[in-house]
Amino acid sequence: MSVALKHCGSVSEEERWSSSENQAESLEEKHQEVMVSHVPIISSFNDRIRPLLDAVDKLRHLQVMKEGIQLPTIVVVGDQSSGKSSVLESLAGISLPRGQGICTRVPLIMRLQHHTAPEPELSLEFSGKTVPTSEAEIADAITLATDEIAGSGKGISNTPLTLVVKKKGVPDLTMVDLPGITRVPVHGQPENIYEQIADIIMEYIRPEESIILNVLSATVDFTTCESIRMSQKVDKNGERTLAVVTKADRAPEGLLEKVTADDVNIGLGYVCVRNRIGDESYKEARKVEADLFETHSLLSKIDKSMVGIPVLAQKLVHIQATIIARCLPEIVRKINEKLNASISELKRMPKTLSTVGEALTTFMGIVGSAKESLNKIIVRGEYDEYLDDQNMHCAARLAEMLNQYSGELHEFSEDDLTSELYDEKRLKRYHTYQLTLLKNVWTYIEGVIMSVLMHRSENYHQLQLSTRREVYNLMEKMKERSRNWVTEIVQMEKLTDYTSDPAYLNDWNGLMAQQQKFMDALENRYATAFQIEGLGEVSIRGLRAYEKPDLLQAFDLKMRMTAYWKIVLRRLVDSMALHLQFCARNLVNKEMEEEIVTELVGRHDGAIEGMLEESSAVAAKREKAECEHQGIERVQECPGKHHGQNYYKYLV
Ligand code: GDP
Ligand code: MG
Repeated sequence: MSVALKHCGSVSEEERWSSSENQAESLEEKHQEVMVSHVPIISSFNDRIRPLLDAVDKLRHLQVMKEGIQLPTIVVVGDQSSGKSSVLESLAGISLPRGQGICTRVPLIMRLQHHTAPEPELSLEFSGKTVPTSEAEIADAITLATDEIAGSGKGISNTPLTLVVKKKGVPDLTMVDLPGITRVPVHGQPENIYEQIADIIMEYIRPEESIILNVLSATVDFTTCESIRMSQKVDKNGERTLAVVTKADRAPEGLLEKVTADDVNIGLGYVCVRNRIGDESYKEARKVEADLFETHSLLSKIDKSMVGIPVLAQKLVHIQATIIARCLPEIVRKINEKLNASISELKRMPKTLSTVGEALTTFMGIVGSAKESLNKIIVRGEYDEYLDDQNMHCAARLAEMLNQYSGELHEFSEDDLTSELYDEKRLKRYHTYQLTLLKNVWTYIEGVIMSVLMHRSENYHQLQLSTRREVYNLMEKMKERSRNWVTEIVQMEKLTDYTSDPAYLNDWNGLMAQQQKFMDALENRYATAFQIEGLGEVSIRGLRAYEKPDLLQAFDLKMRMTAYWKIVLRRLVDSMALHLQFCARNLVNKEMEEEIVTELVGRHDGAIEGMLEESSAVAAKREKAECEHQGIERVQECPGKHHGQNYYKYLV
């Protein structure tokens, strides 16, 4: 890129911009040629680059830079009073606020556009409005607009102000003028004014896409310039820095040496100029400038490709075309990316709601779609909406939890059947397991329901708050209900014994078949324990003191109980599974909707009305997205966009 730009100055397609030709002509005529009649000659070039420049300017207007898309920009920097404003004035042929005291306090985007009408057309764009103005009023208009943006004090702001100058003969250029660099705050300026300005300048010159137009006064030593120090921070070798040396008239001595020695690494070269002074007209100023570089004993020695406002204009037009052409493919790529993102954002955005009826419909839609999603993941075990989120695979997670609970119960009862735990104590343990399971299950389901509902109502904060509250209340009810149910189940088991399960008789018979072996073991005076299949090891040491009929009866009783507990255990697991499935299904299909709708609609707690308000806030966001979207589409329609590469070749 640096190579391409370095040669910009020597590309001589618009030779008429150079003031070295036609010495015979009067200066007046020369000026005419430079500022006005160049049009036919460079128009073919302009015709091709202009749509691109327009597109870029439109994007700038849409503030795509805030979205992280960098636009090719010529940024004007310079120490205070270096002559920045004067240079811009010279390029635009208009008066800008100038001189001591009134300095640029906000970034000024200057968009120069050639037009064929004899009358210039000027306007300021800021704070979303366009204010037409005139050459006579421009200085005041800028001051007023600046006051509106940055306050009427001496403070600065980085919100830009755009000045559009449509004038016959101006080069098609867009440049950004930044506040001048001051070391010492003037009266009324904040203490950290230097840092504030430096931050703004850095923000503009840091991107690779920016070309730095460094304005240096011939009267100072370039190496001491603050603006040079800054541009070198981001562009060490000056590959994208062009220097304009002002006030050539005031310090002609040694200027040639200064610009040829290039002590400060200016990759894109120097252009020496002499700006308008005092009440001179622009015509007069150009005349004097041309004359100066033509006739002055020292200044005339400087190569003509390095002097005069017309040369500067030509170089800038070239550089601008080059950077636009170079950056365009990348901009188009980023814009496509943004476009896709903004389309999907638009799709996700809720439509604007204007009546309570509409809000209600949307609300019912939210509840309905949440219900459908929950039905899928909790009841039907369909996870297409949450393929990658294991936690939302509810039916599977619930099955896992139940399995774990069943495993725990069995483990506990195996440990325990052989010991002499009373029924009541054993049931109490089971109860604890059940309560823990219920708590875990409902907490988990609550999390899932919240997550689905919050996602569905993400654009309505007020609604989210109310829904969250209702779901919380509902889940408390569910937990309470389950607790009561399980207590009742345990109570039932405690007070009654019944089973019609044939497995009971089977088990009991299997256990009783070991009775004879058990009695034999008791006969063996050395045996201390006996292994009962399906039950475990029992200690028999203390049993020898009892009579045989009592022992037979005790064995029978113990085996009946063992077989019965197995049934109880299975019953506890099964009924728990049924209970949870039943409750979850009811909750999702009926209770959740009833609870939320009755509470939110019936009680008028403001959630539905709040949706209207929120949707208008979202509407603003939507408008912005739509606007961006349109801007982006416009750029995509831009005829030149496919030819970026060709422009580049053409320019180099
Ligand atoms: P800024 O603070 O960088 O915007 O500088 P200005 O454009 O306001 O210029 C500061 C002062 O330098 C003004 O009084 C200008 O008239 C003067 N000035 C700017 N350019 C030239 C020039 O080329 N020659 C002379 N003699 N004075 C200039
Ligand atoms: Mg200025």
